[in-house]
Amino acid sequence: MPESRQHFDAQNFDAIIVGARVAGTAAAIFLARQHRRVLLIDKASFPSDTISTHIVLSGGARVLGQLGVLEMLEQSGAVRFSRMRSIGPDFDYRGDLVHDGLDERGLCLSRIIMDAKMIEAARSFESIQFRDRLRVTDLIIENRAIAGIRAEDSTDRHEFRAPLTIGADGMRSTIARRGEEKLGAFPRIDVPCARAYYYAYFDGVDESRLGDELVTEFESSPGAGNLVCRCEQGRIVAATAFDAVELHSFRIDLEGNLRRYLDRSFAVGRILEGATLAGKVFSSGLLSNTCRDPAAAGALLLGDAGLHVDPLFGQGHSLALMSAAIVGDLAPQWFDASRGETIPAIALAEFTRRRDAELMPFYKASVRVSRELALDKGTRMAHRAAASEQWAADEMIRFAQMLTPRGSFPSFRFARLMAKASRAA
Ligand SMILES: Cc1cc2nc3c(=O)[nH]c(=O)nc-3n(C[C@H](O)[C@H](O)[C@H](O)COP(=O)(O)OP(=O)(O)OC[C@H]3O[C@@H](n4cnc5c(N)ncnc54)[C@H](O)[C@@H]3O)c2cc1C
Repeated sequence: MPESRQHFDAQNFDAIIVGARVAGTAAAIFLARQHRRVLLIDKASFPSDTISTHIVLSGGARVLGQLGVLEMLEQSGAVRFSRMRSIGPDFDYRGDLVHDGLDERGLCLSRIIMDAKMIEAARSFESIQFRDRLRVTDLIIENRAIAGIRAEDSTDRHEFRAPLTIGADGMRSTIARRGEEKLGAFPRIDVPCARAYYYAYFDGVDESRLGDELVTEFESSPGAGNLVCRCEQGRIVAATAFDAVELHSFRIDLEGNLRRYLDRSFAVGRILEGATLAGKVFSSGLLSNTCRDPAAAGALLLGDAGLHVDPLFGQGHSLALMSAAIVGDLAPQWFDASRGETIPAIALAEFTRRRDAELMPFYKASVRVSRELALDKGTRMAHRAAASEQWAADEMIRFAQMLTPRGSFPSFRFARLMAKASRAA
């Protein structure tokens, strides 16, 4: 239908957030705390699941703490993992996440519960209007800036305007795609993931085999990776990573292959011995690491929409939460300066600068491992160094948990230990 003949109802907000899962709800809560009027929408209805193995690393859990939702998530069954173990062909080390009076535990909870609870938290703010089953179809462009969105539900079409539109609509973001088509905005760099992922839940693993520890494994066979962690109701979530070219043959026998792949491991197979598969096996399909320039006049991309990373290290939720926290920090100056007008690209570029400075070291470490099936030499040496001394294990685990402040990993003494591990190899 030509645009002139469409019927739209117009409404105004300070910010429109498209996508109401990890990135979108976190950003909405940060803005609502600053008394901003937020429209938070999603095409899905809730509660509903999404493909993800649930690990919220300590860096992301810290943001959940800032949002004031940790207690509620724990009451909903979230497991706080207090240790991390990393195993490979020539390394095996652990680090505690509760130490020196600090609680830096991560969190593991199925997305169907976590996303519903985050929406509940967002809806408790009067200044957030939440609408599900509302799909964004297009952007409103005025003076080469994004001035709002066009959306449709089962009965009508709608138009909403705001000085800031946030695309938190996942790795296939409509906001990113339409911004690219209409304005040449949000340029992207893609690096294909060499691995594919399958995961499932298991019952019947007692605490003596897996307590509150996140276990990750690399290279038990070429390209392999495994992860296990306890989640709600005493269940274990277990994921396996493998060469993406095996995706088709894996699908021929999902349950059998998941068990076989998890068994080709250093420790995960033993942890799951005798455990029963609970429910179906979930898949990722083929994935890419995608980094976009997240800022354009009037709009930002958050979470997977702006930075989609290989799930191997479980960074996605934390990247989403930590970038939402940056929005929370910067938003007062944006809104004060814009006085109700579209926020200019130059102001939003500060978000890009902060995101890149604070989060790119973690993203790049993932991409280095994601692009090849074998661990690259530097990553392997870092693991070997971590396995040689407990202080180094602690430093490596803090980096893996996205707790390390920018520029501080590897420390000088860790780099020296890596060089020693490299000479010994
Ligand atoms: C197999 C696998 C395992 C993973 N495991 C982990 C892990 O253990 N730890 C971790 O941190 N990360 C993990 N991830 C990554 C993690 O799931 C993502 O990083 C995270 O979901 C990103 O959250 P988000 O809010 O940006 O986007 P999403 O969770 O993708 O949410 C986007 C929302 O936008 C909505 N939407 C999309 N288009 C529109 C539209 N046009 N109109 C309205 N709404 C729209 C969708 O309905 C959806 O609800 C995993 C990913 C995969 C594939």
